[in-house]
Amino acid sequence: MNVVLMGPPGVGKGTQARYLTRDQGLVHISTGDMLRLAVTTGTPLGRKVAKVMTTGELVSDDLMMELVRERIQQPDAAGGWLLDGFPRTEAQAEGLAEMLGQIGQTIDTVLIIMAPNEVIIDRLTSRVTCRVCGKIMHRKELSPDRPGACPACGAEKDPVTDGPAVFHRDDDKERTIRRRLDVFAQQTLAAAGILEKRFRSVRIQGTGTPDEVAAEVADALE
Ligand SMILES: [Zn+2]
Repeated sequence: MNVVLMGPPGVGKGTQARYLTRDQGLVHISTGDMLRLAVTTGTPLGRKVAKVMTTGELVSDDLMMELVRERIQQPDAAGGWLLDGFPRTEAQAEGLAEMLGQIGQTIDTVLIIMAPNEVIIDRLTSRVTCRVCGKIMHRKELSPDRPGACPACGAEKDPVTDGPAVFHRDDDKERTIRRRLDVFAQQTLAAAGILEKRFRSVRIQGTGTPDEVAAEVADALE
């Protein structure tokens, strides 16, 4: 069974990839690992990759495709592979489909885990600040009954804005996450669209607990 795993940053792909390699015996192929492996093994392709990486350039689509082709044909991937982090663009998706055809392989399921942006941002930014007393806290310190109230000074409202006393402080982090989510929405979703036309595809909601999402993933692969 060959699976392509897609989804926005922060949706929990890494956790699901771990479950899948454990439960389904798939070989996890992530682009980062693949690049590192190619460089350390010192194959001709690896030397090419190393050269590109030391100059700080981006690894081209062609080179990346060669890497994927080499990796999925390794003996350990014969029982099935899980491709994670690739393709990210329409060109890469077209290239992947074409390359698989050339080597007589296919994708059994394209698994796309989705979640609303706000849910992801909420998960990834956990620091909050009290507008009244200035204390910085972890979200876990807040009262579940009164999430806008400050446990340190007791203020419930910010007298200036009349909004909740407690607010998220991680503006920079949030901006970075939003940019990555935009790239996903603009480029990677288009890549997913191309694969969805050619291969069996399932979209799953990634808003539940890791175990709940894993159960949906297992259903989707049956
Ligand atoms: Zn306070």
